[in-house]
Amino acid sequence: MNDKIPSQPSCIDPFEPGMISLNEALKRINQRVRAVQACERLPIRDCLNRVNNEAVKSPRNVPPSPNSAMDGYAIAIASLVEGGIAELEEVGDAYAGRPFAGSCGPGQCVRIMTGALIPEGADAVIMQEQAEVAESGRVRIDSDHRAGENIRQTGEDVKQGEIVIEADLRLSPADLGVLASLGLAQLQVKRKPVVAFFSTGDELSAVGTPLQPGMIYDSNRYSLHGMLSRLPVDIVDLGVVRDNPEAMREALSEAAARADLIISTGGVSVGEADYIKPALADLGSTEFWKIAIKPGRPLTFGEIDNSIFMGLPGNPVAVMVTFNQFVAPAIDVLCGTSMRQPLLVPARALDRLRKRAGRTEFQRGVASLDENNCWQVGKTGKQGSGILTSMSRANCFIVLPDDNDGVEPGDEVSIQFLDWAI
Ligand code: AMP
Ligand code: MG
Repeated sequence: MNDKIPSQPSCIDPFEPGMISLNEALKRINQRVRAVQACERLPIRDCLNRVNNEAVKSPRNVPPSPNSAMDGYAIAIASLVEGGIAELEEVGDAYAGRPFAGSCGPGQCVRIMTGALIPEGADAVIMQEQAEVAESGRVRIDSDHRAGENIRQTGEDVKQGEIVIEADLRLSPADLGVLASLGLAQLQVKRKPVVAFFSTGDELSAVGTPLQPGMIYDSNRYSLHGMLSRLPVDIVDLGVVRDNPEAMREALSEAAARADLIISTGGVSVGEADYIKPALADLGSTEFWKIAIKPGRPLTFGEIDNSIFMGLPGNPVAVMVTFNQFVAPAIDVLCGTSMRQPLLVPARALDRLRKRAGRTEFQRGVASLDENNCWQVGKTGKQGSGILTSMSRANCFIVLPDDNDGVEPGDEVSIQFLDWAI
């Protein structure tokens, strides 16, 4: 007796008919998601991570006038003695915000501090460490200096009329500083997209309540909320939706009425896909994707009215991986900017990593610098898509491409740090 049941295609197979690549999924997301259109004018502090609507042209030069880059002495280079030492008369002080009122003539110098306006007549600043004060009080300077030395020139950072920040960029702390350096108090940015999300599953219990047999706590809503909180979006938490088509339809219509993007978790694997699928078929259009990644193979992507819908798998690690790889890039596009490219860094594997060719895997790793300041990476332990502690212990994904069929200690792998959106 050697009978066997022939296995249907499933998520344990490396290849499956109809599977699309990670890049193909990103391409489709990029094509379908539309940026929010409305804008608002905000104080620049509130513009962090927001997307500016128009290019910012500078109304002024930065710095607005020449000033000193050092503490020292402002002089006219012509006062120096070729091959010898000049002894200059100190005629005053210049401080940042308190300029020297007079001018610096031949044979004279002005004591000057960093950021102070260059006095009239001076064309160089000699660092105080390169000058000597004689007993007479005169300042001795040799001839090894040049005009323009230690002077920050007008407009050397930004020229009036120059575009300092292109349109449709996510604003960084440095950008806020640049805007302030131009004297701009407010900026027009695109409005925040609204993102609604819910968990699905009859087995889900709320934290803070006793756990009945067969139930588990709903962790996805917490990791999702955490990831969304790092992005420039308004968040609507729609709670847990039970596994029935009516509840699913209600949740989806409510979400579509309120949000630009709807995220659900669970109910997209083969056994349960039917709960989300018919609801979506009634309310909008949807595509069911099998993406060649692990974890996170099934993903539903579609539209309900003017909202984008992304149905993530239920397994907690798959939720975080698919959020990182697909939802965060979709949110970039929704915000009005281009998708960020994942930053992959080479690292030396410390462990043997099991993998079959066929899908891109996101194993969870702990990266550290070795004695030569090169990255090395070990795995966090068990890699099942339900092992959520593998995410909390990790500081990076070990990204193993489709064609990789296993890693030996010492092999080079690519890692992606989790500080982007996770
Ligand atoms: P599903 O895709 O709905 O079949 O879910 C796949 C696995 O993920 C099941 O073991 C679920 O119990 C688990 N799961 C689904 N939703 C959640 C959730 N919100 N929190 C924790 N585990 C979940
Ligand atoms: Mg479920």
